[in-house]
Amino acid sequence: MVNSTDVFVVGGGPAGLAMAIAARQRGLHVAVADSRRPPIDKACGEGLMPDGLAALERLGLQLPLAEAYPFRGIRFLSRELSTDALFPASGFGLAARRTVLHRVMTERAAQVGTELLWGAAVTGIGADGVHVGKDVVRARWIIGADGSNSRVRRWAGLEASYRPRLRYAFRRHYRVAPWTDLMEVHWGERCQGYATAVSDEQVCVAMASHDPSFRLEDGLKELPWLSAQLQEAEAVTTERGAVTGNRRLKRVWRANVALIGDAAGTVDAITGEGLGLAFSQAVALAGCIEAGDLSPYQKIHDRLALRPLLMARLMLTLNGRPRLQHRTLQVFRTRPELFRRLLALHVGALPPRDLVWDGLTLGWGLISA
Ligand SMILES: Cc1cc2nc3c(=O)[nH]c(=O)nc-3n(C[C@H](O)[C@H](O)[C@H](O)COP(=O)(O)OP(=O)(O)OC[C@H]3O[C@@H](n4cnc5c(N)ncnc54)[C@H](O)[C@@H]3O)c2cc1C
Repeated sequence: MVNSTDVFVVGGGPAGLAMAIAARQRGLHVAVADSRRPPIDKACGEGLMPDGLAALERLGLQLPLAEAYPFRGIRFLSRELSTDALFPASGFGLAARRTVLHRVMTERAAQVGTELLWGAAVTGIGADGVHVGKDVVRARWIIGADGSNSRVRRWAGLEASYRPRLRYAFRRHYRVAPWTDLMEVHWGERCQGYATAVSDEQVCVAMASHDPSFRLEDGLKELPWLSAQLQEAEAVTTERGAVTGNRRLKRVWRANVALIGDAAGTVDAITGEGLGLAFSQAVALAGCIEAGDLSPYQKIHDRLALRPLLMARLMLTLNGRPRLQHRTLQVFRTRPELFRRLLALHVGALPPRDLVWDGLTLGWGLISA
């Protein structure tokens, strides 16, 4: 193991690997430690929106098309109603198994010369450096990329003072030919189901609910149209759970420690933006590290998170409100340009200020429907 480095990244998930690649692109010496071994899997909807894909490309990375599946937009479904919106400018997103994404990112991080420490749990940080078991690694900069339950966040005193309202989520893969090239959001009374094709023979299904006892099977009972698509399909992975929700931190850096990815705050899974956000943060944070000043990172971080946080709030107003879901879909069906514009806003093709106008238009549509 190295005994000193410019940048030590705690956590080798997508955010940690993105950080490592971005810092190596700037010529810094980087070590990444993860307590697990690759390829690392995780409960996720596994879709990368067009803006997330663009951020991935800025790291010199592309998902292999043979192991991914493109989607051209979003479909909302509520009971018998459904409505679609395509991404602007014929853009597309890509979905791939988390294990594929992790393998591709690990290979790239190794290729650019990152010191990768797998099966290496970080047990503390201090003035002497980063504690990895019995070893201590001196580091000029320490980056917490250790996920939503970040211990680095706690060690650095960056914990949020409030408890966000979390949702419980589960995902599973089914062997079935994709029935659409759209990412589907199924609105139920107590949950949402997300269906995204990840290859030409597998679909990832994720389910999120506020109810802690809720499981994927409960969701399928509540979403008959989705369960009909999966009726004959074999489940090819086990159910994997995670929590999700909007969590904002007051501060994402202190002294020589900065947070990235879910460690730095989360956006609800409904946005499909967690990964893209982490990739953009990595590029920005690497710039701050190279300049020797972490302070601009706070503003950049908050600006990057603003759009997905706003969109998550807007979408989650439909959560648990079947009548509102139904009316919103009716408005989108009669005014398809409104749904298209909201999707364009969601992926950053329109500025966040347009949300005021489109939000008002939607509100008026709901009142007058
Ligand atoms: C149900 C669900 C659906 C989602 N769908 C999407 C989607 O479709 N699109 C999208 O973009 N985002 C989605 N997200 C969000 C996305 O999954 C996260 O934003 C993303 O995983 C964050 O990556 P990360 O690297 O910050 O954290 P993680 O992926 O959690 O990685 C953290 C890593 O740190 C390691 N670690 C932790 N503690 C230590 C320690 N002490 N020492 C060493 N290693 C440590 C862990 O082993 C882990 O590998 C979804 C999330 C959920 C819950």
